Amino acid sequence: MAFGSSALSNNASFDPYWWRAAPHEDQTRAAPLKRTDVAIVGSGITGLNAAINLARGGRQVTVFEAKEPGHGASTRNAGYVGRTLKHSFGEIMEGQGLDMAKATYGELMDAFIAVKDVVERENIACHYKQQGRLLLATSTKMYDDMAREFGLREEHLGEPFQTVSRVEQRVEIATEHYFGGVRIPDHAGLHPGLYHQGLLDAAREAGVTICAFTPVYGFRKETEGFTVLVKGAKVEARDLVFATNGYGGREFPWLQRRIMPFHAYQAVTAPMSENRVRALLPGDRTFIDWNFNVDWMRIAPGDDTRIQFGGLTGEVDADLRIMAERLQQRLVRIFPDMEGIQFDNVWTGKCGGTFDITPRIGCHEGVHYGSGYCFAGVPMGTLFGIKIARRILGQEGGDSVFDTAPPTRFWYRGNAWFVPHALKWMSRNDR
Ligand SMILES: Cc1cc2nc3c(=O)[nH]c(=O)nc-3n(C[C@H](O)[C@H](O)[C@H](O)COP(=O)(O)OP(=O)(O)OC[C@H]3O[C@@H](n4cnc5c(N)ncnc54)[C@H](O)[C@@H]3O)c2cc1C
Repeated sequence: MAFGSSALSNNASFDPYWWRAAPHEDQTRAAPLKRTDVAIVGSGITGLNAAINLARGGRQVTVFEAKEPGHGASTRNAGYVGRTLKHSFGEIMEGQGLDMAKATYGELMDAFIAVKDVVERENIACHYKQQGRLLLATSTKMYDDMAREFGLREEHLGEPFQTVSRVEQRVEIATEHYFGGVRIPDHAGLHPGLYHQGLLDAAREAGVTICAFTPVYGFRKETEGFTVLVKGAKVEARDLVFATNGYGGREFPWLQRRIMPFHAYQAVTAPMSENRVRALLPGDRTFIDWNFNVDWMRIAPGDDTRIQFGGLTGEVDADLRIMAERLQQRLVRIFPDMEGIQFDNVWTGKCGGTFDITPRIGCHEGVHYGSGYCFAGVPMGTLFGIKIARRILGQEGGDSVFDTAPPTRFWYRGNAWFVPHALKWMSRNDR
């Protein structure tokens, strides 16, 4: 199909590239039962990890999904698996002390390990690879800041890293655009569609009922448990979990007032020769800059002839043809040789952020939630899903340093109109 945009190939699609290898089901409609032990709202990484562990712990679990399974960010993301937080180790150490910094980054490590464990335990063929990450600096000052930050992490957490100077960076990535960076050898990448598909299969195998195309409209607290109002039915549930992240809404107003949705954009190029791809990204890492508002790129997992590129977080242009052109411009700014490159897939997805840019797990008036991942939901959603299950099952290991109520603002009711402006302002700061 031709889209009238020079950034799009004749075969272009606005669906995530990941859906080619892991197509979305559009017909599954299990009718909800009248009672369930645990009702989970949302069928992404968080919801399914909670569901698998709850079902294996002996609970009867129903996952309600407004659209097709995996409709949200879990099948739209970049597939980067790292130990990422918008607050640096040094910042937490300075503001809240060394112990808190260690506890926080310790939990990021738990989340990182959790993904590897899940992939191995469930035998999920999702191109999981610890290929290492190259974090790129966009100024010499940033390069120095990164070296300092990762020096602290090595000293206090024992996490190895290597600085890569601007001269050395060509071994990793064929551009002069960056001012060097930091290589973290063990960070990983995976194919988000296949990871999600593996979780969905494991959940079904564990006996979880997936009610797709069944939005939850609201819930009522009862003396024991909840009545959950879903499309066409009322369901009694002993426990209730919200795993809606950037896709949540009025069905849980308390959470809606604390999680701000925002869009991010991604594209995958039309095929090139493998040699050309390798020449552009010889290091075969997951590449990402260290700005607040990041650009990222890597060789597409499972296809050495394509490059995956993303950015423009927080923008709200509904026309993906325009976003394709803007992504193309950003990519060519990094790799001038890629002038004229076209995309086969361009898509968007919604992230969820908190006012203090920190993910949260918690329980409000009996309702469990894990949310506000600010771009780290692959590992953090995996860990929080597992932790939510442990909490409900009364098992050890459900505690978290991220268990404090997310802040809100008295004026915020769920319309995050200001996020694009805030992100633009941050991007100006980056520059
Ligand atoms: C472009 C992009 C790139 C990203 N890259 C990365 C990355 O590389 N690494 C990383 O760690 N993170 C990344 N993220 C973030 C990550 O994808 C998310 O944090 C994570 O997928 C959140 O998972 P989740 O299960 O909590 O929510 P989601 O996967 O968003 O699922 C929420 C689900 O809830 C459903 N839902 C909402 N309301 C209702 C309702 N009322 N009733 C029933 N169902 C409902 C939605 O339909 C949706 O399917 C990226 C995000 C985007 C958009």
